[in-house]
Amino acid sequence: MRLRILIGSLVISILGIILFSFGATQVYYEASIEEAKNYLEVYCNQFDDDIYTKDTSGAEKFSESLSGARVTIMNLYGIVLGDSVEADDVEVAADHSDRPEVVDAMANGYGFDVRKSDTLGKKMAYYCINTGTCLLRVAVYTSSEWAMFVKALPTIATFMAIDIVVCVLLALLGTYLILRPIEKLAHESGMEQEISTSYTELKPLVALLNERNANLSFQMNELKKEKEIVERTQNSKDELISNITHEMNTPLTAIKGYAELLENGNLTPEQQKTEYKTKYEQNEKQTNHNTNIINYNEITNDDLPPYDVDISAIVKDIISAVKPEADKQNVTIEEKIEDGVMVLARHERVSELCGNLIRNAIRYNKPDGKVTVTLTKGYLRVEDTGIGIADENKDKIFSRFFTVDKSHSGQNGGFGLGLAVCKRICKRAGWTINVESKLGEGSCFTVSFNKD
Ligand code: ADP
Repeated sequence: MRLRILIGSLVISILGIILFSFGATQVYYEASIEEAKNYLEVYCNQFDDDIYTKDTSGAEKFSESLSGARVTIMNLYGIVLGDSVEADDVEVAADHSDRPEVVDAMANGYGFDVRKSDTLGKKMAYYCINTGTCLLRVAVYTSSEWAMFVKALPTIATFMAIDIVVCVLLALLGTYLILRPIEKLAHESGMEQEISTSYTELKPLVALLNERNANLSFQMNELKKEKEIVERTQNSKDELISNITHEMNTPLTAIKGYAELLENGNLTPEQQKTEYKTKYEQNEKQTNHNTNIINYNEITNDDLPPYDVDISAIVKDIISAVKPEADKQNVTIEEKIEDGVMVLARHERVSELCGNLIRNAIRYNKPDGKVTVTLTKGYLRVEDTGIGIADENKDKIFSRFFTVDKSHSGQNGGFGLGLAVCKRICKRAGWTINVESKLGEGSCFTVSFNKD
């Protein structure tokens, strides 16, 4: 850009000088013609008829008194009587009545013209007067415009050289002054803060840059968030793999140990019964893990269409199924269920959602506790009088693989996937799920069927 401005201003200034030189030459030329006319008039006024019209050498004599200016003396009809130019060069007795200055002098008393002389082949200024007894014409050489221009060329070249130097310096200064605020803007726009300028011409650019910066920082934030999500997902995956490995190895190791004990045959029948029971429980636990993982994958990844599902029937079935487990912990279940409540979802998803909430309410309850399941057309609510959830964990419990008590991870069948599945199912159906809870007093999970 700097170079372009420099070249541009150089070209403009050189063109300017050339045009100015032509103009100045023209003005100077016209002034010199005017000056020639004036002194030719003065020359003519010095003419004396009595002295110079006596013989044909009068013209030469008058020319000598005028330092060699060409003098032509004609009769009143324009016929040449004498000419100061050598007799070889000019035809005496020639008729000059058609020359413009002679025509004017015959008509008006004087005439003036500038042209190339037919006789001498050079450009001349002619002044002619009618003296009353003859026509007197005095002429001097003049330079043409082009000749004047050529003569002035060394001066023009000197000025051009000075002009180029001055122009380069001024262009450098100009580009520095013009580009400085732009470079400052470019530098500031790379920073995060909003930029401003006092130059009116740059204000639209500044507005554009600020808008672009705002967009960029918005996109950067989005990217940052996405990166965090990817990292979190990666961590979750790592955690999942480590959880699965740990949780699956534990029952397998236990089962192997019991199998070895049984193989040795050193156990009493009573001990054998206990070992079989433990083996069975470990096996159940293993199956539970597998089911959880498979459920999560199926429910979060399937593309199957929803249909009308009788949620009242599903909730009742689940309550019957978990009754033995509740009885074992001495937890009573109260049902406040409206019949025939229909929701748009899929049977397996609704079953998974309600099952997870009701089973958790029993699992995280206290002995002799209570679970209340309420179902209306607008919502499903599962309340318990259990251990409750601390405020800081209320959001986290819906994340995958989050368990409040890590030491219990994998016990009671889960390692933090149940509520994540519930949240995902609600999201797909357009429902909302939230929890209210007080640590040590109990929790209340509500699924609202109204679309947001
Ligand atoms: P899990 O299979 O471990 O139960 P969930 O995703 O169902 O996984 O639950 C995540 C965590 O939320 C549980 O580990 C538990 O600490 C807590 N939680 C869930 N439901 C309840 C509840 N009704 N009362 C107290 N804590 C609960």
